[in-house]
Amino acid sequence: MGLNKNYLKRKTHTAEELAKGILGSNNILLSQTITLLESTKKEDNNIARKVLELVLYKTGNAIRIGITGVPGVGKSTFIESIGKLILKENRKIAVLAIDPSSQKSKGSILGDKTRMEDLTSNKNVFIRPSPAGIELGGVNRKTRETILLCEACGYDTIFIETVGVGQSEISVHSMIDCFLLLMLPGAGDELQGIKRGIMEMADIVVINKAEDEKDLKANRAVSNYKNALHLMPTTNSGWIPKVLSCSALTTYNINEVWKIILEFENYNKVNNIWNIKRNNQSTYWIKETINQTLYDNFYNNIKVKQSIKKVEQQVLEGKISSFKAAEIVLNSKK
Ligand code: GDP
Repeated sequence: MGLNKNYLKRKTHTAEELAKGILGSNNILLSQTITLLESTKKEDNNIARKVLELVLYKTGNAIRIGITGVPGVGKSTFIESIGKLILKENRKIAVLAIDPSSQKSKGSILGDKTRMEDLTSNKNVFIRPSPAGIELGGVNRKTRETILLCEACGYDTIFIETVGVGQSEISVHSMIDCFLLLMLPGAGDELQGIKRGIMEMADIVVINKAEDEKDLKANRAVSNYKNALHLMPTTNSGWIPKVLSCSALTTYNINEVWKIILEFENYNKVNNIWNIKRNNQSTYWIKETINQTLYDNFYNNIKVKQSIKKVEQQVLEGKISSFKAAEIVLNSKK
């Protein structure tokens, strides 16, 4: 690109410069834009969002794959394993992590480990750990925006990793094309803390840590999950979730998992489900962003803040009901 190092290190790029860098596959400027997006300063967010508008025409071409499962199931090992396989097909991979636990601890289950060592050093891979200290709603919106920035930067395969235990999967589901649930052999889903709702969202269920095809426990798990999924309502698309076992460690069946992901992509594209789903997601994010903005604007309003303080006291003293209090607060911004 002919840019020298100092130029790249300089912090204050214009949105146009950042956009140009991203479109030219510059990872450093991609990283800087994501940092602006994750920043708690509104001015920073505004620059990042301007960049997003400038590069938007180059987005949408990746396959976005959600990977979920409890800590220890092997998510990072799996992404490394499948990532190494598809790098041979000249794919460019971005790995993004959402970890709601990082809000509390400010350290992250997903981010702390030395993870995906082989992928980290590859120039065709971009790994971005979970941002700490942001509200979950914010993380999700910012993750969706990060996906788009990565696509504009030329990444064609995007893995979004979450710990499959809670609310985050619902929002993640509204930003991905394919939802892959990683499970352990020999443990019930209750034991693994996987909610039924999450199971229902899965397009592919993969029993990890099945070192080879003779692994009895894993084979039993595969038939159990096949049966369980059979009892669940069929999806609108008509796709029947696939269940198979693999080993992220020995790479047994990893190529089969990838084949099924491609099969899923093809099925959805041929049936035009791909675009319908993406369009629905875009609509969802319009509403979601409006909701979030209204919420933030409301609670950050000084009059509202004062009013909440006042009515709380009155409720505690038994002077007014909670409902009256809410009404007063809702009217206080006018
Ligand atoms: P994550 O918390 O879900 O990201 O899980 P990790 O990828 O960090 O893996 C947790 C542990 O399980 C690590 O010690 C891995 O080496 C191990 N592991 C991951 N995949 C496999 C596998 O297929 N077989 C075996 N035996 N161990 C695995």
